Amino acid sequence: MPKGATIELIPVISPDPLPENGKLFHIWTIGCQMNEADSARVAAMLHEAGYRATDSEEQADIVVLNSCVVRQAAEDKVAGKLNSLIREKRARPDMSLVLTGCMVTNQQEKLKERFPHVDLFFDPSDFDSLKHFVPELAEMEDDLETLPHYYLEDVADTAVSAFVPIIYGCTFLCSYCIVPYRRGKETSRPFDEIVSEVRGLVERGVRDVTLLGQTVNAYGHDLPGKPDLADLLRAVGAIEGLDRLRFLTSHPKYMSDRILEAMAEVPSICEHLNLPVQAGDNEVLRRMRRTYTTDLWLDRLARARELMPGITVATDIIVGFPGETDEQFQHTLDVLEEADCDKVHVAMYSPRPGTLSARWEDDVPADVKHARHQAVEDLQVHLCTARNAARVGQTMEVLIDSKNKGRWGGRSRGNTLVHVADDRDLLGSIVDVRITESSPWYLIGEVAGSPR
Ligand code: SF4
Repeated sequence: MPKGATIELIPVISPDPLPENGKLFHIWTIGCQMNEADSARVAAMLHEAGYRATDSEEQADIVVLNSCVVRQAAEDKVAGKLNSLIREKRARPDMSLVLTGCMVTNQQEKLKERFPHVDLFFDPSDFDSLKHFVPELAEMEDDLETLPHYYLEDVADTAVSAFVPIIYGCTFLCSYCIVPYRRGKETSRPFDEIVSEVRGLVERGVRDVTLLGQTVNAYGHDLPGKPDLADLLRAVGAIEGLDRLRFLTSHPKYMSDRILEAMAEVPSICEHLNLPVQAGDNEVLRRMRRTYTTDLWLDRLARARELMPGITVATDIIVGFPGETDEQFQHTLDVLEEADCDKVHVAMYSPRPGTLSARWEDDVPADVKHARHQAVEDLQVHLCTARNAARVGQTMEVLIDSKNKGRWGGRSRGNTLVHVADDRDLLGSIVDVRITESSPWYLIGEVAGSPR
């Protein structure tokens, strides 16, 4: 799980026209892409039951909050959201309020006392509970697995990208991380089920798929015959019509040569690797129980770059872990400089109740954590300014997925954000963009050639 990933509210659902039964749902999601994928599945189930999406909580018959507790800030936002819905629930007692996500696992009794206005708490991925709670779903004869996993707004006019979970849970026990306690042990989805799901998405217009897992590259070790992520990448990557394939989030220990070779050999797999290191000091890594050293992480990056020159790399860093000294933090800066990553997701440590490190003193003062956070950001600006400036004049393939303030936005194969101004409707198109301007965080360019 990318500890440093920016927490954002993810608007996975766009409004629909009013359905025949007049029933509406609203989903609010916070946290990682796994939550986004789970919300897409909830939406698919409610859509199948005749409900339609609304962006208004006040109009919804069912409001689903999909929570995250990876960091205190996320948990506080969920609690704030739940409290803000008390008045709505009092005004409309028939409205159903549902809470899912990592906040729920093993905490249902406590949460019932704290938030008595919530009608249903269900564990992430326990979609059976939702099926039994929604009357229209409970009446349906379909079993859970035959219900759709994806809701693609009248299917794929605008949905060009999809997240597909391939492995749930995590069997590592990093000392700061709450995920294994809330998501359980690693459990891989069957190989053929994933391949046919992606094939179905591509038939409905999806061009860009990201395979998801807390430790996505551990995929398959619990399946008969032990297929690995390399096998799956080759099978999914060969699906005709799939333009782009990525995977998130990898653990350095499982970043095998086989996987890197599959990335290099399958044309649809994007030249982008997300490989969290979390700290650049081996003693801190040991106390984090990450089970590798900085040398292993650097070695995996070197191998990826050897096989795929020009590959972009993202990583995650936690600053202010208990006991982290100035010298140890300096090692992190040194390693980041050596690695020259394209993107560093940085987060300040906060103890999560129930984890091992929460028993240790959170002894790095807040002002020191802030200073270290800023130092990583400053290093990133320094490295990214030079790297992006060197991209001016290059032509990049960009998949357009948004429009903001009159400019189209999309991602290069290396996951760099690129903006273009163009009068045509480019949403969902792949375009070649000649880069004309740069900043540390994005590029600006003009379309060269025809959209496809
Ligand atoms: S325990 Fe470690 S590997 Fe597993 S999700 Fe948490 S940070 Fe990632």
